[in-house]
Amino acid sequence: MTYLPTADHDELRAAVRELAEERIAPRAAEIDEKAEFPWDLKELLAKQDLLGTCFEEKHGGTNLDTIGQSIVAEEIARADATTSLIPIVQKLGALPIMLAGTDEQKDRYFPRLASGEWLAAFGLTEAAAGSDVASNRMRATRDGDGYVLNGSKRFITHGSVANLLTVFALTDPEAGGRKGMSAFIVEADTPGFAAPRVEHKMGIRGSPTAELTFDDVRVPVANRLGEEGEGFKIAMATLDRSRLGIAAQAVGIAQGALDAAIGYAADRQQFGQRVVDFEGIQFMLADMASQTEAARQLTYAAAARVDAQASDLRYWTSSAKLVAGDTAMRVTTDAVQVLGGYGYISEYPVERMMRDAKITQLYEGTQQIQRLIVARQLLQRAGAAKRG
Ligand SMILES: Cc1cc2nc3c(=O)[nH]c(=O)nc-3n(C[C@H](O)[C@H](O)[C@H](O)COP(=O)(O)OP(=O)(O)OC[C@H]3O[C@@H](n4cnc5c(N)ncnc54)[C@H](O)[C@@H]3O)c2cc1C
Repeated sequence: MTYLPTADHDELRAAVRELAEERIAPRAAEIDEKAEFPWDLKELLAKQDLLGTCFEEKHGGTNLDTIGQSIVAEEIARADATTSLIPIVQKLGALPIMLAGTDEQKDRYFPRLASGEWLAAFGLTEAAAGSDVASNRMRATRDGDGYVLNGSKRFITHGSVANLLTVFALTDPEAGGRKGMSAFIVEADTPGFAAPRVEHKMGIRGSPTAELTFDDVRVPVANRLGEEGEGFKIAMATLDRSRLGIAAQAVGIAQGALDAAIGYAADRQQFGQRVVDFEGIQFMLADMASQTEAARQLTYAAAARVDAQASDLRYWTSSAKLVAGDTAMRVTTDAVQVLGGYGYISEYPVERMMRDAKITQLYEGTQQIQRLIVARQLLQRAGAAKRG
C-alpha cells in the first residue's frame, strides 16, 4: 500500500507551517499561561478552511485524505498543541455521526461543523469508566419520541465550548456497556445540560477539559446514532480512527521541540564553541530526528490504511499512537536537556512542549491500552488469540 505524501501534501504542509509560524506560535506561551481557549485561533482556522478538512465538499468541507489531515494537525501542533486540538476534536466529535449517522443527521450538522461555526466534542469517559469504557453508567431512558439522558461525563475535551456533543449512554443497563450502550447527538443548548467544571492541567492548558452533567436532558429519537445497543461499537470504531489525530499531534510536538533544540544549540556557546558542535549533543539530535521521522512515517502508513478501510486499521492506528506518543515524550524531554537550564524555564518553548507531550500517552486510550490492542491483533494474525 503506497502512502508517500504527494506534491499536494507538501504544498499543504508549507501553507499550514507558514500560518502556524506567523499566527499560532506567537500565541502559544500566552495560551498556556492563561489556560484560555484560543477563540481567535479557532476563527483563524475556520477562515482558512482548516476545521473542515475531514468533511465532504457537499457539506462545505475540503475532504482531505487522512495523510492531509495528519499534516494539518502535525504542523499546528509543531507550533502549539492546544490549538492543534481544535481540528482534531472537531473530527473526533463528528466521527460517530460519520460512521453511524443518517444522511439527514449529516446534512443537519456537518455544514456548521465544517465551516467552524459550531464546535464538536466527544463524550464517552466517566469518573468510574476510563480505560474500562464498558462500565459507563450514564442512562438514556426512552420516553415517547425521545430519550431522557441522566448522568455525568468527565474529562471531555472542548466539552464547555462545544455546540454539539456525541454522547454515549446506557439504554439497556441490564445488558451492560458492551451491548446496552447507545450513541446520541446532544446540542449544548438543550435544557438540563451543563459543563460545571473545567480541569486545571499540566499541559494543553488552553484546551478546556470539562465535566459534563445531564439532568433530564431530552433528545429526540432522531438524534440517536445507529440502533439501540450499538454505542460501544460506534465508540470503538471512532477511537480506532481518531487516535491517529493524536499520533499526528505527537509527531508535531516532537518536531517543534527538535527544531527549537537545534536553533538553541546552534546559537549557544560553551567552552569556546557552539553547543551544537559537541558530538554528545549531535548524537541526541540525531536520535530525536530519526525517532520523530519513524513516528511520522508510521502515522502516514496508518493514515493510508484508514482511507483504504483496511480490516486491520486498528492495529496500525494504535501502533502509530503508541510510537508517536512515546516519541513525543522522549524527544521533548531530550530537547529540555539540549537547552540545559534554559530548557526548564518558560522563556523557551520546550518545557511547555514536554508538558504538552505527556497527554499524548494518556488520552484516546493510554499507552497500555494501545499495547493491548496491538497485542490482540498480533495474536489474532498469528492464530494464537485466546479462545472463548
Ligand atoms: C486532557 C484530557 C482530555 C480528554 N479528552 C477526552 C474526550 O474528549 N472524550 C472522552 O471521552 N475522554 C477524554 N479523556 C479521557 C481519557 O481518554 C482517559 O483519561 C483515558 O482513557 C484513561 O482513563 P482513566 O483516566 O480513567 O485511567 P484508568 O483507566 O483509571 O487507568 C489508570 C492506569 O491503569 C492503566 N490500565 C487501565 N486498564 C488497564 C489494562 N487493562 N491493562 C493495563 N493497564 C491498564 C492505565 O493505562 C493507566 O496507567 C481525556 C482525558 C484527559 C486527561
